[in-house]
Parts: sequence; structure tokens; C-alpha cells
Amino acid sequence: MTVETAEILELSNDASIVLHAGYRSDPVTNAVAVPIYQTSSYQFDSTDHAANLFALKELGNIYTRIMNPTNDVLEKRLAALEGGVGGLAVSSGQSASMMAVMNVARAGDNIVSSTDLYGGTWNLFANQLQDIGIECRFVDPEDPENFVRATDDKTRAYYAETLPNPKLHVFPLREVSDLGRELGIPLIVDNTAAHGLCKPFEHGAAVIASSCTKYIGGHGNSIGGIIIDAGNFDWEAHPERQPYLNQPDPSYHGAVWAQAVKPLGPIAYIIKARVTLLRDSGQAMSPFNTFLFLQGLETLPLRMERHCENAAAVADYLNAHPKVNTTIFPGLMDGEFRRRADTYLKGGYGGLVGIDLTGGYEAGQNFINALKMFYHVANIGDSRSLAIHPASTTHSQLSPEEQEQTGVTPGYVRLSIGIEHIDDIIADLEQALDAA
Ligand code: PLP
Repeated sequence: MTVETAEILELSNDASIVLHAGYRSDPVTNAVAVPIYQTSSYQFDSTDHAANLFALKELGNIYTRIMNPTNDVLEKRLAALEGGVGGLAVSSGQSASMMAVMNVARAGDNIVSSTDLYGGTWNLFANQLQDIGIECRFVDPEDPENFVRATDDKTRAYYAETLPNPKLHVFPLREVSDLGRELGIPLIVDNTAAHGLCKPFEHGAAVIASSCTKYIGGHGNSIGGIIIDAGNFDWEAHPERQPYLNQPDPSYHGAVWAQAVKPLGPIAYIIKARVTLLRDSGQAMSPFNTFLFLQGLETLPLRMERHCENAAAVADYLNAHPKVNTTIFPGLMDGEFRRRADTYLKGGYGGLVGIDLTGGYEAGQNFINALKMFYHVANIGDSRSLAIHPASTTHSQLSPEEQEQTGVTPGYVRLSIGIEHIDDIIADLEQALDAA
């Protein structure tokens, strides 16, 4: 739950952290690869030991629904990568966003979220959270002050994605997190599309809630999510704004989280999420999936480099193509959107590219049907190149006006550029454009 291995080795570069943070070798067998601890429960040394674990007087393994040694390594490694103090591996990106919000908000409260969101998160906030009494107020992030305008005394968190598709407008992290901090409101950031490129905690965010399914895993084989606590938010300073970190919690024999785990570090938020929400909702990550995420994570910085390089080349190619109206890519934007991209993304503009085809809806479908190497899937962040036509799939339930608001035109195609050789990527796009 802490990041001591990276600190002991004094690693400060992503490429080394993803290989070494949180684990050196197995204490029993000296195994260098992180073992899959496929166990549900853990033998206590004594009744005192068990009592101390349950009372959080010492941290240790109780039951895999709440913690697991394989998961612990992923949690430490991702916390180290993001510069946080602790992580919590959960069963999906959706679980991560749901628990990240429910850790600070209850029925009668609200959160303010950017409108530029993954559709699944939108549904979660607009429907499921609404049904349990947590209101989500959606605001256009173009003007950061919109977050403040939508805030009242029941607002518990701000929520946004670093690099949201389809618009690919990088979120104003520093601007909104500063406004929130003045009011005692933490910014929760979904960094799914920008791990390795953007460090939201360096720009004031308090919590990361991401999907591991995409770039972190990188190989399209498992569903998982991660919550990371920056340890930089002063919950105690805002007793009225943040009641659930400051009032006795009946679900954990009256623990006041902002105080209870102080001797263990600034980990009140992430410990509370683990020992109450994860314990009770059971949205744990399977250790087998964790092992696969650890394999993927080892090459995240290398893969991101290639994703970014390939995506930039693809964006240039498409931007000059006569069948493409507009190419949506942060590196091709100008004005405020370009400034945000250059401020918050380092090492590239990500692996996602959008195009609006001159032939509209039909051209979008023809283009997708003609692709040979690209996979036609509802996913991003795989090592393989992926494509989808949102107007006929992910966004087909929305009216044309709603589609337009979210940045989806009839001829819009979303590309998640993989790490194949650039010549093969361009060749596939070229022959598909011939058919569009
Ligand atoms: N956040 C973003 C930006 C996503 O793209 C997705 C899934 O596509 C999620 C969260 C949800 O992640 P998962 O599919 O792991 O639940």
C-alpha cells in the first residue's frame, strides 16, 4: 500500500519504476517475476495479529476481496508511476470511477463532472449514481469556471478525463484543481488514455481513477481498474465539505478516516476505499488479471513512445488526404487546446486519432468494412491498431444533435493507433480510404 521499493532504489524515471517499484523478489522463493498469489485467505499468526490487522494497527493480508500480494505490487507500481502514496486495484475501470466517487459522496450529495467523458462513465454518473441519490452536474470544461458555477455546499468532488475522446481536448487540470482546492473539493481524474504521458498529481489532481484495460495492460486480454491517492489533499481542513473522511464511520467501528491512519501516512482516502467500499461491494481485481497487467505495465513507457510516434505520423498523413474533412489530434490543434496539450502531455500527444470523412455516415461504414489489419472493436489502447465508427455503434443511441455535442459527426471514425510498423498502418488506412 506504500511505494517503498521505488524509494529504496531511488528510481525517478517511468521506464525503471514500471519494472522495479513495489517488488524485488519473492521473500520465500526468490522468484523475480511477481507470483500470482491465487489464494482467498491468509493464515493469521495469532489472535493478537488478527485483531491488529482488523483494527488497522498494522497493515497486512486478511482476505483477497480486500487485499492480495500480487495486487499489492500493481498498486505500489502504479502509485509510484503516478507519484501517489497508495493504490487500489479493482475489477474494472468502471469500478474505479464508481468507487472513487462513492468514497466521498452519498445520497443527497453531488459531483461536478466534465461533459467530455467516456460513454460508460456518463451512463454510470447520469443513471446509476443518480438512482442512488448522487447527482452528477455535467459542465463544459472549455471554461474551468463552469465547475465553480455548478458547485454548491453538497458538492463533494470534481471529475474529468485527461485526454477524452472523441474530441481529444486535453482537460484544464491545473485550472480546475486549483479552483476546487479553494473550496475543499478534490479533482478525480481518469488518466486512462494518458498514462505515461500525463502526471495529473503534478497538476493538482487528488485522485486518479483509471481503466487498466487499455494502455496499462496494453494487450487487450483483461478488464481491470486502479484508484490512486495522491496523498496531497487535506481532508481534515474541510470537515464540512468532506464529512465522510471527517466524521465517525459507522461501517468501520466509528473510524474517523482523516485521523485513523495518520501514523501510516496521508492515505486516509485510499484506505477508506479499500476497507469499506471494496470490502463491501466486492469489486476486487483477480490476481491472475493483475499478473497480466503487471506484464503489460513493464513496457508501458516503450509502448507509449511508439503509440505516440505512429499516431503523429498517421495524423499528418490523414490531414493531407482529400477524403478527410478534419483530423482530430492534439498535436494538430492550435490555440487553447494546443496549449493544454503541450502543458499537460509530455513525450507525445497520445495514440488516439479521429477523422471526419467527407463522405459522411456511409463513408464511415465503408471505411471500417474495408480495413484489413485494424481491428473493428469497441476498445482503445491495445498494442494492435483499432477502429470504430461511433455514429453507427457507441453513439447510435444519441440524437444527431447529441452526437454533435459529444464531437461525433456522421463521418467520424475513431482510430486507436497501435505499435505495428507505421508503413503497414498507413497502407491499411490508404486502401480503406480508397473504399470510403
Ligand atoms: N475510462 C475510459 C477513458 C475508458 O475508455 C473506459 C473504457 O473504454 C473506461 C474508463 C472503463 O474501463 P473498463 O472497460 O475497464 O471498465
